[in-house]
Amino acid sequence: MVIGILGAGQLARMLALAGKPLGLKFIFLDPTPNSCAADLGKHLLGDYTNKTLLTQLAAEADIITYEFENVPVEIIDYLNQNTPVYPSAKALLIGQDRITEKTFLQDLDIATAPYAPVSSLEELQQAMSDIGYPAILKTRRLGYDGKGQVVLQSTQDLDSAWEAMKNAPAVVEGFVPFDREVSLIASRSVSGEVVYYPLSENTHHKGILRLAKNTQNDPLQAQAEGIINSILTALDYVGTIALELFAVDDKLIANEFAPRVHNSGHWTIEGSETSQFENHLRAIMDMPLGTTNSLGYAAMQNFIGRVPASKKLLSLSQVHLHLYDKAARKGRKLAHATARTESLEHFTDLIESLTALARQSDDS
Ligand code: ATP
Ligand code: MG
Ligand code: MG
Repeated sequence: MVIGILGAGQLARMLALAGKPLGLKFIFLDPTPNSCAADLGKHLLGDYTNKTLLTQLAAEADIITYEFENVPVEIIDYLNQNTPVYPSAKALLIGQDRITEKTFLQDLDIATAPYAPVSSLEELQQAMSDIGYPAILKTRRLGYDGKGQVVLQSTQDLDSAWEAMKNAPAVVEGFVPFDREVSLIASRSVSGEVVYYPLSENTHHKGILRLAKNTQNDPLQAQAEGIINSILTALDYVGTIALELFAVDDKLIANEFAPRVHNSGHWTIEGSETSQFENHLRAIMDMPLGTTNSLGYAAMQNFIGRVPASKKLLSLSQVHLHLYDKAARKGRKLAHATARTESLEHFTDLIESLTALARQSDDS
């Protein structure tokens, strides 16, 4: 079986690494030479809109998936004429625009931050009388890792914040005073079988995920599963999905979903019976899904811009290192390490060591 992937970055790489034991072969389409997944399969080097390469991808792959959510939907529709693409264009289309995404969530009675679409400074000024401060102004499309976002503390921030949008359509949303940020990762197969991972508790800094750790019997687990279940059903979703949530007291507020495997689920590689990557592949092949129970306490620390010396990281017992084989660049996700252990005390120590090492090497 050959799996085609749009994109050959670290998520594609981890999908391919999960697929090798299942005997799968991979073919990637990615415009960047020496992309980090490229040596794990066949690399079609070129633009995502290149019809010749798309035709070749559809001809050589049995099933196609993608590792990033900004794939133009027309490309999915084009590929889908010959070869099934999962998740569907519908999931992609809704998730690509923060307004259609939030409208979709609210139509399902899922709570979100208060929000308003804005496409001019006047509209922003008007919207702020309803939303109130503090708030966040975000581009509707193409944002990731907190890029294209400005926090609004008072009316004085409006001019410069609107300028930062460069006239792109935007959304302004009320700042949610969350106690915790969590994400729920789930996988749903072509036949409709669903598995949920334990909630991941996530720490961000400057809009970028830094640390994700699994939870044990989280009181909000059932609520989160209920929310994601209505999303999965409404989209007739196939594959792994990640839903980012804010926890406020005993209530969950949806932030956004990603129709793909997710950074906050990297701890599942060593920390779960079956990883989010393996379950994504099983789901799109319509195979039985693997169980998602955690193997003890598990956490993942991202390394951004620079990576601590491997010798240092690997000297920590029960730590696993994943280097993405990417050139170092400021603000770029280059690697992560997972800690997994049965001992809560050791877990706490490992997280402390990993976050300290990350802080020393981080340049963002
Ligand atoms: P990602 O890389 O997760 O796709 P993104 O660029 O789409 O990121 P968001 O997830 O919308 O951005 O925001 C990034 C982070 O900023 C959130 O994880 C959260 O920490 C903070 N944030 C965003 N929106 C809000 C909000 N309305 N209230 C409070 N914090 C927020
Ligand atoms: Mg996002
Ligand atoms: Mg996010």
